[in-house]
Amino acid sequence: MAFQLKSDMTSFNTSLILSTMVVGPLATNTYIVGSQSSGQCLLIDPGAEANTIIAKVNELNLNVTYIINTHGHGDHNGAVRTIKNLTGAEYGINDKDIQVLGTSALWAPSIFPEYERPPNPDFYIRDAVPIEFTGVRLEVLETPGHTPGSVCFYAQGLLFTGDTLFKNSIGRYDIDGGNREQLIDSIRSKLFTLPPETVIMPGHGPQSTIETEINHNPFL
Ligand SMILES: [Zn+2]
Repeated sequence: MAFQLKSDMTSFNTSLILSTMVVGPLATNTYIVGSQSSGQCLLIDPGAEANTIIAKVNELNLNVTYIINTHGHGDHNGAVRTIKNLTGAEYGINDKDIQVLGTSALWAPSIFPEYERPPNPDFYIRDAVPIEFTGVRLEVLETPGHTPGSVCFYAQGLLFTGDTLFKNSIGRYDIDGGNREQLIDSIRSKLFTLPPETVIMPGHGPQSTIETEINHNPFL
């Protein structure tokens, strides 16, 4: 089954809304995943530019219920604090990345003033415990290696991979508790076992598919 993203916003069934934004100095992909029927949405990795993200959410007539992170690096959560304050959304991350959240080298205001240190999470994201509200359900896959608490989210043929897997590349494993063997094992055992047509929505750069990365990713 082919799923094609032709534009910034695509309804990928009758009720789900998906919007991709590229934010901040490290060009992080922020995803809005919403439900037309409930008017609720969640944000995956709002890295910076909180006001631009909120404007997009408003344009889509959605309310932010959850803010979730694929991992603790500042370029993926630098807008969490402002968006949470403005919307009252609950913020979640895997508990194994709490230390990364506090110590990431990206919390250097002199270098990256765009990234705000996030607040304490309201809930922890756990392997195999889905995140859901009316009209939206994301499966959680723990994929340690880029950081100890890196996770991927899977919904309706879409896989949000954070910095675990990119088109033609993989995440760094040399900082913040990263581990190359763990990263490769996570990708092979948790991601490459998903349906080949699964569309990869990475934390940076263009989309891909599981089949394409199995066949062409030079790191795997
Ligand atoms: Zn990262």
